[in-house]
Amino acid sequence: MTSPPKISFYMHDLGAAEVEMVREVLSQPILTTGIYVERVERLLADYLGARHALCVTSCTGALHMSLLALDIGPGDEVITTPMTFIATATAILEAGARPVLVDVEPDTGNLDMALVEAAITPRTKAILPVHLYGLMCDMRRLRAIADAHGLAIIEDAAHCVEGERDGARPGTLGSTACFSFYATKNLTCGEGGALVTNDGALYERLRLLRHHGMTKTASDRAREGYTHWDMTAMGWKYNMSNVEAALLLPQFERLPRSLAARRALAQRYAEGLARQPGVRVPRLAVSGDGIHAHHLFPVWIDGGHRDAVLDGLKRRGVEVVVNYRPIHLLTYFQGLLGHQPGDFPVAEALGESVLSLPFYPAMPLAHVDMVLERLAETLHEVQAQSLTLTSQA
Ligand SMILES: *Cc1c(COP(=O)(O)O)cnc(C)c1O
Repeated sequence: MTSPPKISFYMHDLGAAEVEMVREVLSQPILTTGIYVERVERLLADYLGARHALCVTSCTGALHMSLLALDIGPGDEVITTPMTFIATATAILEAGARPVLVDVEPDTGNLDMALVEAAITPRTKAILPVHLYGLMCDMRRLRAIADAHGLAIIEDAAHCVEGERDGARPGTLGSTACFSFYATKNLTCGEGGALVTNDGALYERLRLLRHHGMTKTASDRAREGYTHWDMTAMGWKYNMSNVEAALLLPQFERLPRSLAARRALAQRYAEGLARQPGVRVPRLAVSGDGIHAHHLFPVWIDGGHRDAVLDGLKRRGVEVVVNYRPIHLLTYFQGLLGHQPGDFPVAEALGESVLSLPFYPAMPLAHVDMVLERLAETLHEVQAQSLTLTSQA
């Protein structure tokens, strides 16, 4: 039996335009943070309708810096979600604060706003929502809760550059919104990140924190020649280089096309899966004429069959991943926060059933159909096996 053609989970769409832009940067003297980074910052701020943007080396760094700039640290608590990548919570730990987890909505995996208020204590300083898979959280409701308790909001928008809900976009209602340009994100330069903010004073603090707390940078030196600089705050080394910025610049023009392509793939998957028992799709509709950013295409496999389906798809040449097993049950967080299975039942149920299917802008629609066929085959096999096991028991 010949094995069926492999279907990749993800493939970036960087090409000639990016090569050309990197060539341009390499022909110039400033490889570190300079005018190409500033151009990305302008494009990102304009795209999101935000006043300021700052490019950094990762979303993790952007979250960490945002917490520091808001004076959140030891003794403070930050409310966030267990259904996320670990970096959301490790950024809180990097700042010296304590993540306080709150369970998620069963139809989206986003923070359940009805449970947030009960988790607020006198030590709570901020809420750190994640716009999971590209569907924005209910930010209007979260803003009202935060205002009632004098809390900051920092948005983990790693999945959600293009998202919009009830007229708000990432950064509209949070002190900052943080983005990732990691290898598989909707905008990518391999490794990188950014944040946006409408708060001018916060932006100035973040600029210092991004670059050692130094009052001058290499691009200031290139513009005006050497002048003495000072260090006025403890800073980090989070600045993005012009080389990464060159990889990002041409992608802004493609953002609408890329989103349209991913939307078409998501629709094809959703239509196919509507006829497939045993599989559910997270909510795709966004309230208030919103926009789903379609970063990933996760499904929920019923009946405790997720790992069997994952194995069956791997054997059939379909690359899949899990986004995410809830972080409170990972060894480190379980030890640190003392959580037990059962603490966040919705996140646990989603984490045990979730599977992300292949999904990227240049993915052929025919590959969606192939994934759907192989998924149907796999489910058939898994259900038959579980029936056999049940009748033998
Ligand atoms: C990718 C990701 C991050 C981390 O991004 P980096 O740029 O790799 O630091 C944070 N949160 C979420 C939800 C992510 O998916």
